[in-house]
Parts: sequence; C-alpha cells; structure tokens
Amino acid sequence: MSGGGSSGSAHPGELAVGAVRALSPYVPGKPLSELERELGIEDSIKLASNENPHGPSPAVLEAMRAALPEVWLYPDGSCHALKGALSQRLGVPTSMLTIGNGSNDLLVLLGEAFLAPASSAVYSQYGFAVYPLVIGATGAQAIEVPALPPGAAMARGHDLAAMRAAIRPDTRLVFIANPNNPTGTWLEAAELEAFVQGLPATTLVVLDAAYHEYAQARGLPDTLDWAHRHANLVQVRTFSKAYGLAGARVGYAISHPEVAEALNRVRAPFNVNSLAQAGALAALDDAAHMQRCVQATMRELTRVTQAIRALGLPVGPSAANFVLVEVGAQAQQIYQALLERGLIVRPLANYALPAHLRITIGLPAHNDRLLAALAELTALTGVAPAEGLRRANR
Ligand code: PMP
Repeated sequence: MSGGGSSGSAHPGELAVGAVRALSPYVPGKPLSELERELGIEDSIKLASNENPHGPSPAVLEAMRAALPEVWLYPDGSCHALKGALSQRLGVPTSMLTIGNGSNDLLVLLGEAFLAPASSAVYSQYGFAVYPLVIGATGAQAIEVPALPPGAAMARGHDLAAMRAAIRPDTRLVFIANPNNPTGTWLEAAELEAFVQGLPATTLVVLDAAYHEYAQARGLPDTLDWAHRHANLVQVRTFSKAYGLAGARVGYAISHPEVAEALNRVRAPFNVNSLAQAGALAALDDAAHMQRCVQATMRELTRVTQAIRALGLPVGPSAANFVLVEVGAQAQQIYQALLERGLIVRPLANYALPAHLRITIGLPAHNDRLLAALAELTALTGVAPAEGLRRANR
C-alpha cells in the first residue's frame, strides 16, 4: 500500500462519485515562480492567464493593507459594502447581486443550484474550459455544440443557432462567454438578445462577461440593462481581469433576485475574504485606473495582432486582452522555446487546438520581448500556415 494509513482502500480516489472520477482537472497557466525554479532563470514574463499586467489601482493596495489588521475576524459573509457599491454603480438592486470567490465560484454555484443528473447544460466547443467541469461535477449531461467553422468571420466562435437547436426540455443552463476565452470571439448584442429571448422559460442563460470591460473598449455595448428585461439571464463578471485583482478572487453575478437567492443557499458562508472585499470596493472607486489599463491594453492588442500577422501567423479577431495565434504543428515546440526565453504563453491542446497558442497582452516591453522571440522562432522553424487560413484571418 502506498500513502495513507494501515486501513482502508489502497485507492480511495475510487470512492469519489462517478461524475467526478470522469473529470479531467482544469489546467492553469504555468506560474512564474515554477518556470524560474525549473529553468534557474529570472525576469520571466507571464502572458498565460489574461491578467492585467498594470495591476490594481494604488488605492486598492492601500485599502487591502488597511484591512489586514482585521484579518483575524471572519469577513462580512453578505458582502454588504461591496454589494452596495456595485448596486449604485450598476443601477441594480442588491437583491440581484451575488458575490463570488472569483467569477469561477459563481459558475460552480450555478451548477450546484440548477443542475442534477436528470438535467443537461449546453456550451460551445472552444468555450471556456470550466463549463464542462462545472456541468460534469453535478452529473448533468454536458452538451457541447460545434463552434463556427475556421473560415467564418468569428472563426471558432459560438454558433448561437446551433446552440438554440441543442437546448432540450431538461436543459437548465446554457453557458455563453462573450467575449470567449480562448478564442477572443464575440457575439453582437442583437443576435445575443434574440437568443436569450427565444429560450424556453426552463433554461437560464449564463452570460460570462469576464472580459466585458475590454469588449466595451472595442465597441461592444453594455448588456447590463438586460438584467431587468430577462428573468432567465445571469450575467457574470469579475475583478480578476481589467481590475487587476486575479489573486484576490472576486467576481459577481447580476440575476433575477430568485436566482440570487438560490445561489445564496449553496454558497459557502464566507466565500469572499475580507482583503478581497476591501480591494474590490476600492477598485470600484477608482474606475479611471481600470479604464486607463484597458485603453493601454487595447492599443497593444492592435499592435501585437498586426505584428504577429506580419510574421505570417494567423491571429483571430479578439475583443479581450489576449490573442489566439495559429502557430502550426510545431506549437508545442514553440511553447517550450518561448518558456526557455522566459515567456509563458498558453498551449491549447486541452481545448483541442493543438496548433494554437493563446497569448495575453502584456506591458509594451513584455510584448516587444514576445514579438522578438516569435520572430526568431518562426524564422528558425519556418512556420508556414495554410495560405487559405492566413487570408481568412487577415
Ligand atoms: N470566465 C472566463 C471566460 C474566463 O476566462 C475566466 C478566467 N480565465 C473566468 C471566467 C474565471 O475568472 P475568475 O474566477 O478569476 O473571475
């Protein structure tokens, strides 16, 4: 017997429920400290998890520092102050808000509250990897709908007509990421609202807008007022991306009060810690900082996209702070070679996109380093993607 004590099964993992045994764990971006330990290097750059490299507002750090002495107390389990501030800013009553330990927590809570083995949930091929995990853990049936084809204007984006057709009477949730990670693709407001409107009352739409601050800078409209029009819509947002608080873990959902009430029943009593609550509250007070970060990132997104295309690599359109780059059959080697140069990007074999890399937009100097390395590697490996695809993505 290896590990564990002297009694019990040699394989206690087999005691996990069947739905959990069937899951493959989420693969996160490689942490900087791990790469530096492995390669004995310093000064590496992480462009793998779509964080905001500008970091949060200085006022956020100050507020978190100020909250430290009270860390021995449990946090406010109802997130009263943060909900109040969000309610004011968003113009929705606090009864429509749920705060989560990152928006990931809210996705899990939605699964726990609305899915069971007798139900199903729909998501898109190339949709955010957490959706099938959330669905699978509940024992509900996960229905993956083929994405738009590679030649489409929104190549590999959500195919709303196909998703609508896949919805069954037992479908309780449909997950839509707008913009989507890892494709960067987005849906126009009119088609999305028609989709929400056309659903049976037995299906909730989870509109995951983790990147919505970036998308708005790209001209996508804010869909906040839909919360008042559609009882079956749950909009999920986060402080992890544009607000620069990925490490603090705060997200929020805007939904019908009855949905918020259901989520409240299943969430952990103190799911959002006190430092995170203090940081998020201060972040809302300095929205100008967030806006400056978003503007700078979107300028760099344009520059990086053009520079990578100039290397002959197709880059999909993106309304978020990352790009999906087709580097070809040697993607794994290029990923490794970038690691050796201290650059962590995201390989996408787990998304069945083995020829692609997802690259987060960093600070200008980070992006310069990435572009120089990519130029060197494409020259070395002679990466030459199919001409048709290259044209389709221009
Ligand atoms: N949704 C999408 C589309 C994401 O890309 C991510 C993070 N990668 C999340 C949700 C979860 O983010 P968080 O839990 O940090 O809010």
